[in-house]
Amino acid sequence: MNCQNCRTMTEEGCSLCETCEMRLAGTLLRLARDVTPLHDSLDATLHPGGHSPVRIQTATPPTPIRLDVLDLIDMLDATARELWRCLDGIDALDWRKDPRMEDLEATLIACAGHPKLATFADAGLYMHIINNLARKVDLALDPPEQRREIGTCELCEIMLTAGPNDQWVTCPVCGREQRAQTVKLRRLKTLCWDDGRRGSAAEIAKAFTDAGIALKRNTVNVWRKRGKLDVTPDGIAYSSVYRLVISGEPVDELPCEKTKPSDELDK
Ligand SMILES: [Zn+2]
Ligand SMILES: [Zn+2]
Repeated sequence: MNCQNCRTMTEEGCSLCETCEMRLAGTLLRLARDVTPLHDSLDATLHPGGHSPVRIQTATPPTPIRLDVLDLIDMLDATARELWRCLDGIDALDWRKDPRMEDLEATLIACAGHPKLATFADAGLYMHIINNLARKVDLALDPPEQRREIGTCELCEIMLTAGPNDQWVTCPVCGREQRAQTVKLRRLKTLCWDDGRRGSAAEIAKAFTDAGIALKRNTVNVWRKRGKLDVTPDGIAYSSVYRLVISGEPVDELPCEKTKPSDELDK
């Protein structure tokens, strides 16, 4: 038989190959973990985006709850219960015969660990549906282009992520709330206080911009060419850029140089 998802040959009686079975189980477990953050994101006064949501004051909240998230939870709930009945051979649409009242999270976990996950007839179809739902959940929780790493937690050193409008971040490990700007500046400071920390013009520009100081890669390159920076074969010292920035070196009105092919290879 062929795997219904990836079409590779698989054992007789299996609808999914081992790899796809693992993936499906993994996705189901990930969705189970997302149930609580999803419920938290229902509140429209929370910043949309966050496995660690941040409360904001909106001038006029459009609705008290996010209807897109409500729909998503409903869809996930219906799908998970239907899948569980399917796995147990109960007619998927005949919900009255299913006495189970487990919550959504428990249902998803039960599906992920079900012995028939790779052998029931519609495994490929459900894998497709579950993957689509997981993508939507990810979008609801973490708009991809908006969240980026901003620095480490002051207590447990875990890397924190935040969206551009997040004022506060909550560490997912130790639960500590910290101002996003403080986290970013602390990261920049550790880079700039150590003369040994070096990077490419692009890396340095990104670190400064992430910390709230707009700095273009081109600007760093111009400074380097003018001999204003501490440059070694390992790269440019963050500290030398930092000194220029705080001494008020103009960062905006520099001529925009054409990028020569050799610049792409510059450290
Ligand atoms: Zn497969
Ligand atoms: Zn922490």
